[in-house]
Amino acid sequence: MSFALIKSVPRTIGFRLAVWSAGFFAASTSVSFGLAYLLVSSALEQSDREAIRLEMGERATLYRTGGLSRLAEELALQEGEGTTEPFLVRVVPPDGATPFVMTPARWKGFDLDRLSLAPPLEWTILRDRRRSKTLEVTSLRMPDGAVLQIGKTTEDRDEVLERFRGTVGRVVVPLLGFSLAGGIVLAFRALGPVRQIIQTVRAIEAGAMDARVPTRRTGDELDELGRLFNGMLDRISTLIAGMRGALDAVAHDLRTPLTRMRGGAELALGSDAGPDAARQVLAECVEECDQLLTLLNTLMDISEAETGVLMLRLEKLNLSTLVEDTVDLYRHVAQEKRITLAVAAPPELWLVADRSRLRQVLANLLDNAIKYTDPGGHVEIAALQEPSTLVITVRDTGTGLTPAEMPRIWDRLYRGDQRRSARGLGLGLSVVRAVVRAHGGEVAVSSAVGVGSTFTIRFPLPAIRGA
Ligand code: ADP
Repeated sequence: MSFALIKSVPRTIGFRLAVWSAGFFAASTSVSFGLAYLLVSSALEQSDREAIRLEMGERATLYRTGGLSRLAEELALQEGEGTTEPFLVRVVPPDGATPFVMTPARWKGFDLDRLSLAPPLEWTILRDRRRSKTLEVTSLRMPDGAVLQIGKTTEDRDEVLERFRGTVGRVVVPLLGFSLAGGIVLAFRALGPVRQIIQTVRAIEAGAMDARVPTRRTGDELDELGRLFNGMLDRISTLIAGMRGALDAVAHDLRTPLTRMRGGAELALGSDAGPDAARQVLAECVEECDQLLTLLNTLMDISEAETGVLMLRLEKLNLSTLVEDTVDLYRHVAQEKRITLAVAAPPELWLVADRSRLRQVLANLLDNAIKYTDPGGHVEIAALQEPSTLVITVRDTGTGLTPAEMPRIWDRLYRGDQRRSARGLGLGLSVVRAVVRAHGGEVAVSSAVGVGSTFTIRFPLPAIRGA
């Protein structure tokens, strides 16, 4: 691992996640162990005090029945037998004489004179001179006025608690380190797909446009992100390829007429054929220029329609009339080609749309249907209203389209290979789709080679967008 990589580790999400999780782990473990410690320590304290109270009960009974002598005798006996638990037993006589004290030898460091003759059962806490031990003492006044005091050091329970603390230290500290390391490894592994996305973006930035994120088929969110990211890249690649293709096609379509114009003009300049010939060349140039302008204007219209900036002059119009009017324009061409042209539209079909744009759409579809249908064929345009849609279909018995051709016919400047001889710019269907979409509708094609094609436009009702 390089130094730069190690330096960048603290900035990674993986590291920060691991630190956060270790922090939470440390906090929750501390709280749990703290509570456990308090519980254990309070339980031990209660058990110690209970033992002192019991001892007090026994010794007080002895004192009451036989006085100090009886108590001292019993204590000496028990000590001799070694059966007693270590307790401090102190009796302060009522006359202020020297108190009777019996205490294990190792508890000698306490200044017992500082023990108050406190009211019954009140606890007095005494630290030894080196302040390393603590003595808990309870006092009870006897009927003769003497004060009986029983005490016990906390050393036993201190030892237990110290062992408890030691164990916690030995367990928790390594556990914390382990959880931090485990957290880093887990977070590092979990964020692997994110790093792969970053690497992919870097590769694309460096020019490898075909770089993709490797997917692991785990079905988790990051896998999904990777797949979506790849899908997006594929879509962008397709769009870029499409744009590149369109640009190439435009360049190609511009080059031919421009070369023609240039050739004609050069020829006219070089010859001495006179002004009439030059005028003829100029007229041809004007015609070519008109065609080029049509091409460029149509391309711009398509772009505007696709990007939503095309101005639509919306009005309520009778679709049946519009269909009839458009069909009328093509009757003559159809007749010449011996193609029957039929219209099926109920008289009252209303919709809100841009009249001239919609006419352009219908004209383009009809034009194609007649153009790509052999003599003797049949073309039919129909309009009908479905519950929530207005449907227009243009059907022909023409050459039809191959499945491979079908998605491409909508591309700008696409022209089927065998139709190169027919007139056209390859923009008719691009205009159809862009205008229909600008109206909020959709257009689709179904076709079979040798059988014919059907183009279907669907406008959602009640109204077309913007109405
Ligand atoms: P153009 O008609 O100027 O070539 P279009 O954009 O209108 O351009 O159509 C693109 C291509 O789609 C055509 O070149 C042709 O190959 C195909 N096409 C369009 N309409 C039909 C149709 N009705 N029948 C068969 N092929 C069609």
